[in-house]
Amino acid sequence: MVFERVGAPLKAVELPMPEPAAGQLLIKVQTCGVCRTDLHLLDGEVAIESPPRVLGHQIVGTVVPDGRRVGVPWLGWTDGSCKFCRSGRENLCPDARFTGRDLDGGMAEYAVADERFCFPIPEGFPSLQAAPLLCAGLIGYRCLRLCGEASAIGLYGFGAAAHIICQVIAWQGRRAYAFTRPGDAAGQEFALELGATWAGDSDAEPPQPLEAAIIFAPVGELVPAALRALEPGGVLVCGGIYMSPIPELDYGPLWHERQIHSVANLTRRDAQEFLALAPQVPVRTHVTTYPLEEANEALDDLRHGRFHGAAVLTLEV
Ligand SMILES: [Zn+2]
Ligand SMILES: [Zn+2]
Repeated sequence: MVFERVGAPLKAVELPMPEPAAGQLLIKVQTCGVCRTDLHLLDGEVAIESPPRVLGHQIVGTVVPDGRRVGVPWLGWTDGSCKFCRSGRENLCPDARFTGRDLDGGMAEYAVADERFCFPIPEGFPSLQAAPLLCAGLIGYRCLRLCGEASAIGLYGFGAAAHIICQVIAWQGRRAYAFTRPGDAAGQEFALELGATWAGDSDAEPPQPLEAAIIFAPVGELVPAALRALEPGGVLVCGGIYMSPIPELDYGPLWHERQIHSVANLTRRDAQEFLALAPQVPVRTHVTTYPLEEANEALDDLRHGRFHGAAVLTLEV
């Protein structure tokens, strides 16, 4: 399923078998998660420099020919030599290439990926349930890491990432406060089922001040709202790759050493740590499945919030 230009749906195209270069694996794709970033790519909010491009950056499949099961995330390649790479911040590498944006991704029968950026899928995770770990899970985990030791954490936007990280927060004995689109009673119920202490509308006040908050929804209006919900010294983490403009803000909500932090991409350390943690919880992903050729339907359902949890394209499971 190929991206050709901004504003057009993905197109089903017959492509030649991808050829792995030195250091790359050829992967027979089993499942590929759909991510909000894919919507930002379709809408041109995040640019694809050289289309056509196969999207998809939560790939689970088996290595040809040995059958090992691996996952491929968004971070697909880094130079390994810049100051960011050398200081454990490869997520900020200016030359980084991203799966399904700069490199062909997993909305296809086969994909190739740099072996250094492929990860073993934990035993006991079916390929369907594993796909959302690779972006929703990893980005959620990186956001959670930035919340430090906070014990009361707000989650604004209860989609794929929040539904995973809510389970981790609860398992760690911390409290998650879930904020959904106003009136989304089913979404709030879903959050409570996954261990949230409280769930309410995004414009509601939580029952207690938050020590940290993560905004997963790409909605800049949530920044002042979340800052007002934070106690002094609290941190606000913006987890998305794109956000609509943030409204002008009085200094008051930021005063008292509150912090705003964005999260960009992921590092391989995030992947190693999170994929080791997920089976301990154990994280249970809630997936809605679509055949590969219905990728546009999956994206449309994501855009309109028609499912809870994550959407996954399936090839052969
Ligand atoms: Zn670098
Ligand atoms: Zn993603």
